Amino acid sequence: MASEELPITPSLWPEPPPKEKVEEYLAELEKGPWPSHVTELKKTKYPVYIYGMGLVAGATPWATSAAKAPGIYSGVLSRMSHPWTRITPPVFEDHARVLIPSAQVFTTTLLRFLIEASRRYGWGLLQFIGGTGDVVINVVRERLIDLDIFLRRIGLDIGGSGDVMRNTVSCPGPLLCPYAIYDTLKARDFTYSCLIDWATYPQFPYKIKFKYSGCPIDCLKAQARADYVIIGTWRGAPDVDDEKLRQWIEEGGDVEELVRSCPTRAITWDGSRLSIDGSKCVKCMECIRRAYPAIKPGKERGLTVLIGGTIKSRSGPKLAKVLIPFIPLPSPDKLEEALMTVFQVVRDRIVPKWDEEGWRRERVGDTLIRVTWQRFLRDFAKFDPDLAAKITKATPTEPYYSYGITFFNMSEEQKQKYLEDLRKAMETWQ
Ligand code: SF4
Ligand code: SF4
Repeated sequence: MASEELPITPSLWPEPPPKEKVEEYLAELEKGPWPSHVTELKKTKYPVYIYGMGLVAGATPWATSAAKAPGIYSGVLSRMSHPWTRITPPVFEDHARVLIPSAQVFTTTLLRFLIEASRRYGWGLLQFIGGTGDVVINVVRERLIDLDIFLRRIGLDIGGSGDVMRNTVSCPGPLLCPYAIYDTLKARDFTYSCLIDWATYPQFPYKIKFKYSGCPIDCLKAQARADYVIIGTWRGAPDVDDEKLRQWIEEGGDVEELVRSCPTRAITWDGSRLSIDGSKCVKCMECIRRAYPAIKPGKERGLTVLIGGTIKSRSGPKLAKVLIPFIPLPSPDKLEEALMTVFQVVRDRIVPKWDEEGWRRERVGDTLIRVTWQRFLRDFAKFDPDLAAKITKATPTEPYYSYGITFFNMSEEQKQKYLEDLRKAMETWQ
């Protein structure tokens, strides 16, 4: 159907603006001593004119579309010039979301390959977007398969959109940060090697996000943003190196202030020796940040696994709860073994059950509120009652709500039931 034939309600959509006006507007955006995004876009094959039409008309010039290619089930977002633009034939704009290297670290070689891919199969335009740093490549629809083949040859995949495992994110960990308790980059890579079909094939009630933070500082804010959160931690007290502490004090470190900075009063100083009561330490990292490397994370290291954090979801923003308080990590080479323990619970028990019982567009954090935390631990995580009781007791987090509850396509009856379930769940939330 030609776009002229499409029913357009004049009250809803604007008339296409005159060409001169669009050009004048775009020219205006190229003036001034600062860099102009219009000038830069003109160096690519991006249809800048359509963009200008949208600016002048004050309406999006794009409508949703769909691009299909055999073997690519996730990671392609499509749009086409909106019928109100009267552009015939319509211009399609498809994007491929690329699963990028861990910690968003690119070699220059890889960047060159991505630029080449973008020029060869797309519009010569790359976007690095969002907190995840996803790379999005505009692609010419007919070249989608070629782009996919090219990316696979350089070790990358298209994926991470829709009801899949979204781009898994790790902090830079040992690459840049001395506090890292485990190799977050390796953990992320291992996740993809075990769960790549989760990232490329939509199969869940809603999206899944994994995030890996190397220490309790949690630079990624993973606890508030991911369904499955793996944080490096330790048991007992931080590790104090007396010799380095002496040096730190000689170089001006204020030990009295260090003692005062501990929120749980776990640190004492007798004038010559610093002691830390491990039973009081809540792993806030404050003393470590102040006196590293004299004070480091404790020697008995491990992983804490949390579940259910989200910023936006059915029942509002919430912090993830502790699911597995501590998986020992006696040495770095045991990381994969420790992660397999996580996957055995998440991949083999929780996700299949969530897939079965989760409502459409319900993140796992919403499900566990709806079914109650106790039932979740018993029926989803399949923990035995003693372990479940221990975990419930060990959970130090509280959910919080600031946006209220959203109701997607629920009947009145469902809404009442949902509210009742939520009320009961909140009573038992610890
Ligand atoms: S989360 Fe911890 S290990 Fe990771 S970058 Fe931040 S401070 Fe470093
Ligand atoms: S990590 Fe935090 S709670 Fe633990 S001893 Fe240091 S300052 Fe205190």
